[in-house]
Amino acid sequence: MTESPSIRILVVEDEPQIVRALRINLKVRGYDVVAAASGAEALRLAADFHPEVVLLDLGLPDFDGVEVIGGLRGWTDVPIVVLSARTDSADTVDALDAGADDFVTKPFEMDVLLARLRAALRRGPRAVEDAVVETDSFTVDLSSKTVTRGGDVVHLTRTEWGVLELLARNCGKLVSQREILKTVWGPKHERETHYLRIYLAQLRQKLEDDPSRPRHLLTETGMGYRLK
Ligand code: CA
Repeated sequence: MTESPSIRILVVEDEPQIVRALRINLKVRGYDVVAAASGAEALRLAADFHPEVVLLDLGLPDFDGVEVIGGLRGWTDVPIVVLSARTDSADTVDALDAGADDFVTKPFEMDVLLARLRAALRRGPRAVEDAVVETDSFTVDLSSKTVTRGGDVVHLTRTEWGVLELLARNCGKLVSQREILKTVWGPKHERETHYLRIYLAQLRQKLEDDPSRPRHLLTETGMGYRLK
């Protein structure tokens, strides 16, 4: 029964007896299990351990599981399967909206849970290794949310970071103006393309060797932007 050998799984759950049962069942099937009992610990361990799948209880002692999803989605596309004892389906919807891939309600059948994890692993991209995007001028670390240039940390405003993060997560791909505006400023600002000209100019000033002739933060006129 080692259909998923050595898959790194982060189990986020504050009930010791559930963690114990999960550990036993997952280990038998070849998973490499790390467990966190709080949201803060989960985010810390996710950055250290780089799990290939996360099993996340929504009811945690420190913060809401939905916030943990938000924290993870800032830098990784790791598949997240939510575990919830809550009967309120709104929580599950919130979790899915925040970026969870699937959910299993408690109490759960171990076989069902294992099948959901396998399905999530099959679907999910293993993008954790891409948490660092490097150019020959600067380096973007999506997990620690830092940018370095020539070994020095570059200070970015929250909005500058939002734009850069989106481009870095789609490194090499064209990201439309609309997508950036919607993601960073919100759906009401989809047409404010002048924001982008301003913020891209600022980012180039901070990150490009020659801001007037950008080599990494590229404009695709009338369409969008691309990080190369
Ligand atoms: Ca709980």
